[in-house]
Amino acid sequence: MTATTHRRLRTEIPGPASRALQERRAAAVANGVSSVLPVYVTSADGGLLTDADGNTLIDLGSGIAVTNVGHGVPAVVDRIREQASAFTHTCFMATPYEGYIEVCEALAELTPGTHEKRSALFSTGAEAVENTVKIARAATGRQSVVVFDHAYHGRTNLTMALTAKSMPYKHGFGPFAPEVYRVHGSYPFRDAPGLTGEQAAAAAIDQIEKQLGADSVAAVVIEPIQGEGGFIAPAPGFLPTLSRWCTANGVVFVADEVQTGFCRTGDWFACDNEGVVPDLVATAKGIAGGMPLAAVTGRAELLDAVHHGGLGGTYGGNPVACAAALGAIETMRTRDLAAAARKIGEATLPRLRALAAETGVIGDVRGRGAMLAAEFCKPGTTEPDAEATKRVVAACHAEGVVVLTCGTYGNVVRLLPPLTLPEELLEEGLAVLEQAVREEAAR
Ligand SMILES: *Cc1c(COP(=O)(O)O)cnc(C)c1O
Repeated sequence: MTATTHRRLRTEIPGPASRALQERRAAAVANGVSSVLPVYVTSADGGLLTDADGNTLIDLGSGIAVTNVGHGVPAVVDRIREQASAFTHTCFMATPYEGYIEVCEALAELTPGTHEKRSALFSTGAEAVENTVKIARAATGRQSVVVFDHAYHGRTNLTMALTAKSMPYKHGFGPFAPEVYRVHGSYPFRDAPGLTGEQAAAAAIDQIEKQLGADSVAAVVIEPIQGEGGFIAPAPGFLPTLSRWCTANGVVFVADEVQTGFCRTGDWFACDNEGVVPDLVATAKGIAGGMPLAAVTGRAELLDAVHHGGLGGTYGGNPVACAAALGAIETMRTRDLAAAARKIGEATLPRLRALAAETGVIGDVRGRGAMLAAEFCKPGTTEPDAEATKRVVAACHAEGVVVLTCGTYGNVVRLLPPLTLPEELLEEGLAVLEQAVREEAAR
């Protein structure tokens, strides 16, 4: 099979083969499961997706920040192949294997802080986040969990409770887990002008102290840059202030780095940017080049406070997924993908800012590294414009560029390119986006 190296449209998007699959799907796949762009993928390479009609699209979504190393990387694929032919499963809780330990060793080295760490492996981000709460409760003997406006932490019952947005994540799915409390975070574009990170944190802390009392709080769970909620980076000082308060009050500071982790934001982890050292870190998505793997990593005394046998799961730390993770991590190290992410940000942010100034339909441009976003608003206001966002995204899709949306108000176009995306493809993808935004502004 020869690898395709550029965008190529042979049919309209989605083409007839994809449309036929979409029809077949309706009779077999649950309606509750949706797809942003129903082109049915048959192969992927680097930063390109090829579909059932032979169209090749530029991938600026990485399957939601998963294929950070790109598609089809030999270091990942070869290790998967090798491990799959050796054995695919034993269950680490039944008869263990070395790959699990190697991944935990790598996590201890790479996550923020030089303290003694332990890890437990799982399969999904929600499972990892849920386990941070189990661990924090077991270690502290407290019950309350504090989360933030615009938070997204998953779709299990406990993580739905932690998640802010009702439609589509929670609507009709209650009752939700108790002892979860939501406070204001930091959203510089929508907060009072000039509000500092320290002030926003002080307000959140005041809410916690007045409404819960610090000594009832087991954990504060936070995304260092909020993902599904709109790629919201808190004002500088917010995370360090919150983290210091947690330490002073015996509260476990949990960083949900499921989307931000593994070089995505230009550091190994988003917390590194301000030198914040979380007590527990939840990781998943980018960890294993597309294989389902997740982890909780953190202070040895917290993880080891849980009774023997209290953590686990049949598939947690699956050997093939661990092999993939080791290949992905090796790729991030040898190709310095944190630097690659910063370079993507440096190339993209000025263009998005110029586009915002030129067209007037983008209210805010933000992001760090290769986690980038444009928030669409009615011109001259901060009023969210979800309809404009939909049209821009549809125009990109029609031109063979996969972009995703996010945001509490559904008005954010987010860019999550593979960190290995060649410059020409990034350039081409951005040109398509720019054209789509100009057409939106000219409507
Ligand atoms: C995606 C995501 C999750 C949930 O991960 P799943 O693997 O989908 O369960 C949790 N937290 C954040 C920040 C995420 O982006």
